[in-house]
Amino acid sequence: MPDKFNPPRRTFLSNSSKVVAGASLAAVWPGKLQATQWLLAEAAATGPSHAVMEIVSMLAARPAELGAKVFADVPLPLRSSMLQIQSVLVGNKPGCRLSLWVQELQGAIEYLKGLNCAIVIAQVPPSQSYAQTSLPRRQLLKAMPRLRVYVAKSLRDAKRLEKLENERADYRALGLALGYPSCCVDAAVNHDQNSVNEKGRVARQANLNAIAVSVSSAADFRCNQFLVESELHNAAPLSAIAHYPCKLDCPETVALGKAALELSARKWPIWTVTLCELLRAPIVYWSDESWPADYWDEYCGLALIEARNIGGGEWNSPLPAIRLGAEQTPAGPLPQSVVSVKIGKKQVLLRNATGEASSYTVQELGPTWVLNWRDGKVEKVT
Ligand SMILES: [Zn+2]
Repeated sequence: MPDKFNPPRRTFLSNSSKVVAGASLAAVWPGKLQATQWLLAEAAATGPSHAVMEIVSMLAARPAELGAKVFADVPLPLRSSMLQIQSVLVGNKPGCRLSLWVQELQGAIEYLKGLNCAIVIAQVPPSQSYAQTSLPRRQLLKAMPRLRVYVAKSLRDAKRLEKLENERADYRALGLALGYPSCCVDAAVNHDQNSVNEKGRVARQANLNAIAVSVSSAADFRCNQFLVESELHNAAPLSAIAHYPCKLDCPETVALGKAALELSARKWPIWTVTLCELLRAPIVYWSDESWPADYWDEYCGLALIEARNIGGGEWNSPLPAIRLGAEQTPAGPLPQSVVSVKIGKKQVLLRNATGEASSYTVQELGPTWVLNWRDGKVEKVT
């Protein structure tokens, strides 16, 4: 990884405390440094100060609680978008696009105005069908009025985003105006067409995650946006990027993600350490492409926090896995607190912290992919 040639950047921080410096160091240099190990070593060297130990114990183990502490002053619906919003404010990207429920709008707008963001709000047309989700979920989502909020530094730019999407429906121009790499915009525009499922005659959107996984042979954690649709979804920023990457090691996306994590390390150092740990957790992923319409979900899988591969398709972890997507598969729901995954030829076995096992047939589940952001490999295991 080219990262190892970059010197650690302690000096760009205004706060000089060791924890903050270490956290930022880990964030910009994660390939060579396990953030938790660094903090443990620091705690051992300086004596276990209460603050350091508290941080260590919360890292990775309780990310939702840590997010709630770090982002306590941010309205809940905006927490996951804060890195993108700050990227716009410092000029790292030209604009961003948020999606909010009507009842969330007032608090969110007041907060965004306080940050000096230029904002344009638009109603999501009822024709928007949430075609990437299952039929029951679509009905639920359609019943709740939803709004889009376009955020930029100037009102002119925010208006332009709104116009590109709602008046001109020019998704290529919109993607570029949001600062997404042109390779990723092209991939999304080329694939992002609804097709009609033959069995149920139901329209569905191409699964852009499954497409990116299937064309990737390598994975860089800065392209990981799977946690955005997970149990942690509104806890804090959960990805360095805000778009579907064309592949899991897209170089332009890696560059964007790196800039975002550097900004994140300056704004929220402790969260950034945690985020890098989360993004580097191997993901077991199942594509919904052959599933019945009641289960469609482009994010189905488990992020195996702190897990080790012990061979024979088996992964063990001291921490519970984070469930991605709607937590449902045609072979059964994904259980809570999974600490062991065994991927066999005919079945996948999940075990939770109390030793309870759930078994899923490969026939119903389809192929299992392992996205190993740590060693950079993407593998179809079954
Ligand atoms: Zn790309």
